Parts: sequence; structure tokens; C-alpha cells
Amino acid sequence: MSSIGEVAVYEANAELGGHVCTVDVPANAHSEAVPVDVGFQLYHATHNPNVRALLDLLEVQTEAVAFSLSSSFEGRVWTNDGGGDRVSAALDGDIARFIADAPMMVHLPPQVSLRAFFDQRGYSADFRRWCLGPILSFWWVSRAALFELPAFAVAAGVLQGAISFSGATEYRAVSGGARAYIQRLAARLEGQARLRLATPVIRIERAADGVWVEDAGGGRARFDRAVLAVDAATALSLLAAPSEPERALLGSIRFEPSTLVVHRDERVMPARRELWRYGNFRVSSADPQADLSGEMTYWQPRPGDPSVFVTVITEATELDPDKVVSEHRWRHRIIDHHTFEARLSPIQGQGGVWYCGGHAVGLPVHEHALCSGLAVAEALGASYPFADDTQAAQAYAQFKTHFA
Ligand SMILES: Cc1cc2nc3c(=O)[nH]c(=O)nc-3n(C[C@H](O)[C@H](O)[C@H](O)COP(=O)(O)OP(=O)(O)OC[C@H]3O[C@@H](n4cnc5c(N)ncnc54)[C@H](O)[C@@H]3O)c2cc1C
Repeated sequence: MSSIGEVAVYEANAELGGHVCTVDVPANAHSEAVPVDVGFQLYHATHNPNVRALLDLLEVQTEAVAFSLSSSFEGRVWTNDGGGDRVSAALDGDIARFIADAPMMVHLPPQVSLRAFFDQRGYSADFRRWCLGPILSFWWVSRAALFELPAFAVAAGVLQGAISFSGATEYRAVSGGARAYIQRLAARLEGQARLRLATPVIRIERAADGVWVEDAGGGRARFDRAVLAVDAATALSLLAAPSEPERALLGSIRFEPSTLVVHRDERVMPARRELWRYGNFRVSSADPQADLSGEMTYWQPRPGDPSVFVTVITEATELDPDKVVSEHRWRHRIIDHHTFEARLSPIQGQGGVWYCGGHAVGLPVHEHALCSGLAVAEALGASYPFADDTQAAQAYAQFKTHFA
């Protein structure tokens, strides 16, 4: 990669990583200590080729993970790999119909949401609540706005094999927890950039002589340019004098909070042990009309410990406090048609300020977070590092066409 001059990295937390967050779950009488990921967990080697290329570059060890899902309601359990119970004829029929509809759906405009599509075509509540809602919530975590996802984007996931109704999908995870790759990255950065950990930026001011960065510790430093690799709402709050287009574009990106709890309480899992899957959704009966109502539990079986869970809790979730290890609050970008329409290109580089990250540009996934950073680096004079990797280069070009 060519040089882009002297770089300083400001990070609010004491460690780099952000949504890459691995928790050490202490050993107990039955289990050994294990690392568990509560943010970024999985990538798809084919659909996320830039992430794959970065991990290869860093020589990080990864492992295959068979991703499948269980969805439970009042003792019955549906799985997307053929195990479990038959829920209803309506559900089976809608799965077949949805797979048949997918090639047509990919041509729908982004304005057609899943909700509108399903309402118009009379898809059953069982299909939404038991099956597609849980599958999507695994990837997008958000709840309220899940069915605002553009129908075409979900259909594309089905056609690419990233969303499956008939078997486990092969994803990959970083061995020993995702933080292993951040540690490698940080080690490489050390010689090339000044790392300012535990140093939240509180204000970004553009002036005639450059961009002034003010941090919570009272520091004030001048740079030629600043790249805000934070979510859009945070980026907007940092700008001392945002322009109208900056307010409009950054302000139009919506977020939804979530709380993930790491614990050892097996009650969130299906009663039948053989139906435990990587993602385990418990449908709540609270609102039978809701598209999605319930809680998701990730189960990342690690050698030495089969009983550590990560649950995206709801108000109805009950966990034994003695079995709780840690709690994590995140904020997720809501994906709707604006995500595919509103590009930040009109405000990129204005007064030397640039934006990247999965919660500002593109979709809130690791591949896009990475590509958005690479695109800014390229605009600032660095060369794209994976040009020899055809798959990665194609995906990067596509990302730039749609989102940069
Ligand atoms: C629970 C969960 C699970 C996920 N699982 C996956 C997955 O399996 N696969 C996948 O592809 N994607 C997953 N994602 C999506 C994930 O958000 C993206 O993959 C990606 O990690 C986002 O990276 P980012 O750098 O854009 O943002 P972040 O990781 O949020 O990084 C932003 C950084 O900026 C720092 N910061 C914020 N404000 C300031 C400030 N004022 N001053 C200085 N520093 C600041 C933060 O501390 C943070 O380190 C998941 C997300 C969540 C929440």
C-alpha cells in the first residue's frame, strides 16, 4: 500500500475493535474459560471477500462454522436445516413460494419493503414470525424496522445462498475470538500510526489551516484531513459547524438500540438439546400480529464449554442473575430504502472531513465497514491493497458503484 502520510488514530475505548468485541467467560465447575464474540462473529468467504483477504493478509487463523437456526414457540421448534417440528402447512407453502419469488424480487426497486411485498402477496404470519423474521434478525439484529428491509436485498441473499431454508450455510469465524484479528491489525498499525486509545474525540472543527480535532482529555491537534470512522449520528454530533447537506444526509440515517447479554442460563435454548443451533430464536406470544417478536440467542460452541450463550434480550427475557457474565449495549443502523439511495458522496471530503464505517456508508456489515474505509483511503492517495484478488476487487468495485 502506498503511504498517505502521518496518521493518528483516536479511539474512545481503551482498546481498538468497536463492534469487534470478544469477552472472556470465566471457567466454572462444569466448564473451562472461553472467549465469546458479542459483536462481529461470522463472515462468508465468498460474499465477504475483502474481509477474507484482510484476515489472510494478517495471517489470522479462522475456522468453518455451520450456521443454522432454530425458532421455538410453545414447545415446538422449527429449524432451517430440516430438524425439529413441522409448524404449519402455511409456513411450508410460503417457504417454497418465497424461494420461487426470489428471482423476480431482486428486480424490485428499493422502495418496496418486505412488509409491503408480503402484505400484497398474502404471505402468512407464521412465515414472518417463525421463519424469515428470526433468520433476518440474526443478521440485522434490529427488531422494529426489520421488515422495512428492501425486498430485493433479502431476495439477493437467498439467491446468493447467504440465507437458506433447507440446510446449514458455511460461514467462518476467527479462531479464539474475533479480537485476535484486531490484535494483529493493532500490531501492524503501531509502527505506522500514533494510536490514541481511551481518547474520545469531542469536536471536529474545519478552519483555513486544516481540521482541528479536540479530545475529551483537553487535547487539540491540527490535521490536514480527518476521517470519521464512527456511526453517522456520532459523526454529525462531532462536527462544529455542519453544513445543511451534512445535517440532512448524516441525520437521515436511523438507529435502533439493542442489549446483548453473555450468560450461562440454558433456559433460553430449546428444551431438546439436539435442536440447539448457532442462532436460536424464541418467538414470544406477546403480540401475535407482530412481524417479529422474541429474543435471539447465539450459541458459539467452543471446545471445552458447550453452555455459554449470547442473548439479544427483550423486556420479557428472564435470566438467572447468577448466570450472567456481562451486558453490552449497541446501536444498529436501520436498513431501509434510504440505505440504498442516500450516498454520502456529496459531503465526502468537504473541508477535509471524510466518513466511513458500516453505520454511515453501505450496509452495517463487516465487509462494507472495511470497503468504506478502503474507499476513503484510496480517495486520500493510498492504493487498494487486494487488487490481485479478483473476487475481493470485484466486490470492492461493486461496493463503490452502489454506496461510495
Ligand atoms: C451484535 C452485533 C453483531 C454483529 N455481527 C456481525 C457479523 O457476524 N458479521 C458482520 O459482517 N457484521 C456484524 N455486525 C456488524 C458490525 O457492526 C460491523 O461488522 C462492523 O464491525 C462495524 O464496524 P465500524 O468500524 O463501522 O464501527 P464500530 O465497530 O462501531 O467502530 C467505531 C469505533 O469508533 C469508536 N468511537 C465512537 N465514537 C468515538 C469518538 N467520539 N471518538 C473516538 N472514537 C470513537 C468506537 O469506540 C468504536 O471503536 C455485528 C454488529 C453487532 C452490533
